[in-house]
Formats: sequence, structure tokens, C-alpha cells
Amino acid sequence: MKPTIGFIGTGIMGKPMAHNLLRAGYALVVRDVVRAPVEELVKAGAAEASSAREAAERSEVVITMLPDSPDVQAAALGPDGVIEGVRPGSIYIDMSTISPITTREVAAAMTARGVPMLDAPVSGGQKGAEEATLSIMVGGPKDVFDRVRPIFEVMGKNIVHMGEVGAGQVTKACNQIIVGVTLLAVSEALVLARKSGVDPARVREALMGGFAHSRILELHGQRMVERNFAPGFRIRLHHKDLGIALAAGKATGTPLFATALVHEILGALRAMGDEDLDHSAIARFVERAGGLG
Ligand code: NAD
Repeated sequence: MKPTIGFIGTGIMGKPMAHNLLRAGYALVVRDVVRAPVEELVKAGAAEASSAREAAERSEVVITMLPDSPDVQAAALGPDGVIEGVRPGSIYIDMSTISPITTREVAAAMTARGVPMLDAPVSGGQKGAEEATLSIMVGGPKDVFDRVRPIFEVMGKNIVHMGEVGAGQVTKACNQIIVGVTLLAVSEALVLARKSGVDPARVREALMGGFAHSRILELHGQRMVERNFAPGFRIRLHHKDLGIALAAGKATGTPLFATALVHEILGALRAMGDEDLDHSAIARFVERAGGLG
């Protein structure tokens, strides 16, 4: 028998993930503070809960897909939160990208109630959520991971158990460091090309076959060449994610020099009003710093 799933947070990512679970035959109880996506999911066959507590009361597996650490803390442990409704023996899975420190705090509170927790952040964006091709990086007890693996398989393709609770979030932070720092490197290279009178589009093509090749050069480099900065993955979310990486660096005594620089640049772009552009718009900052309009 498939477990009933409480799904909390039906935004850009959560809504298509919930649709995929419904299509796969799972009974869903959905909750969001915004009405429109909930109504759409109810039309598609989901039941609606009026609080995270109620979603937890009416399900055996509870999933959250929320913006940031304070949101997960509130929905999981706050008044009318998951912890007030969840039954011992149920499983709690947080698929948001949040701090591994918060993850461990929430997991400790849940475990004390007899509810094991997995952290299972994703990469692959809205397209990956819609097409059920997300990469899912999971931390938490292996036996619990094995039990809910069929649920992950409905939403993603590359599903990896990384270790103890929090290990999924650490993996996601590593991902965001590599993507962010590479974005800055590609931006600098293409702006240098432009300022030197060499066509950035041709530089990108020339570098694609060598050691400088990456998915970032390929996809985001193309965006920079075309000046297509519609999101995508928003600057504001990547700024949040590098803040998480820096906090993890501080907690573990790991200096993250390049990450700190990219974090500050993304912060500056937010202050300039670019926070809802795609993160490839980091190129705009490099251009402005180099005197290009
Ligand atoms: P989003 O802002 O579109 O969706 C979050 C949803 O949570 C919203 O609908 C909001 O109303 C709801 N919400 C907030 N607080 C709530 C609460 N207390 N109770 C119920 N609902 C609440 O964000 P998103 O783009 O779907 O991202 C979700 C998470 O996934 C983030 O942590 C993000 O970093 C991560 N992520 C996003 C992408 C992407 O491309 N958008 C890719 C990978 C990972």
C-alpha cells in the first residue's frame, strides 16, 4: 500500500513535484500559505489541509519544500507545525535547500517524537521538477531512505544516499559553491574577451572542447552571450545558498574564499534590484565593474 503523503510548500518546485506524486497514484494532502497552487492540486485530486499540523495528522510521510531555514523551522516545529500533528512511526522529509545546522536541530526534535527525518535537497530546477529528473541528495538513516526510495523515484533520477542527517544539505552546499564560483569565472572570461575585441560567443565555442568546458560554460555562457537573464534559478536563492555554505564553513573551520566573494557579488546584485534575474546575470556585475554598460 502506498503511504499518504502530506506535502507542504507548493511553489515553483513543490507544485510540479506534487503533481508527479499524484500521477504516480499517491494520495496527497497539500498545504501552502498561497491559495492558487493548492486549488490547482485539489483539482488534480489532492486533499487540502489548513495547517502543517493537519497535513501531518492525515499522512504517513510528510514532505516540506519551502524557501529557507526559518520557513522549515516554522512549518516543522512552530505552532500548528508538523511536530504537533505527526504520528510516531511516520517519516518526515525536508526537500528544501536549508542550513545543515537547522536540519540537524529539526531532526533531533522529530526523532525525539519517534519520527525519523531525511534531508533531501534537489538540483535540476523547475524543469527537473516538472520532468521528474531531479537529482536528490539524501541524508538520514539508510533504512528510512530505503523505505521511501520509491517516492523519490517518482520525482527524480539521480538519487543518492550521502550519509547521516544533514549530509544531503552539505552535498547541496558543495554543488552551489561549484556552480557559483564557475559562474563568476565564466563571466570574467567572457567580459575579458569582449573588452579585448574578441567575440565572446566564439571564445565560448573554442573553449567547449578543452579543460575549461563545463555545463556552466555551455548553458550559462550561452545565456550570457544571448543576454537572456530570465530565471531560471534566481540570484536571491543562490545568494541564500552561499550564505548556507559560508555558515557551514564557519561552523567547521573551512575557509571558503571564492564562495565569500561570489556571495558578496550576489548580495550587491540583490541591492541593485537584480535579485529575481537568473544567476547567470552575475555577468552584468562583472561588466559594470569593467566599465561596460
Ligand atoms: P517558492 O518560493 O516558489 O516556493 C515555496 C513555497 O512555500 C511558496 O509557495 C510559499 O508560499 C510556501 N510557503 C512558505 N512558507 C510556508 C509555510 N510556513 N507553510 C506553507 N507554505 C509555505 O520556492 P521554490 O523555487 O519552489 O524553492 C523551494 C526550495 O527548493 C528552496 O529551498 C530552493 O532553494 C530549492 N530549490 C529551488 C530550485 C529552483 O530552481 N527554483 C532548484 C533547486 C532547489
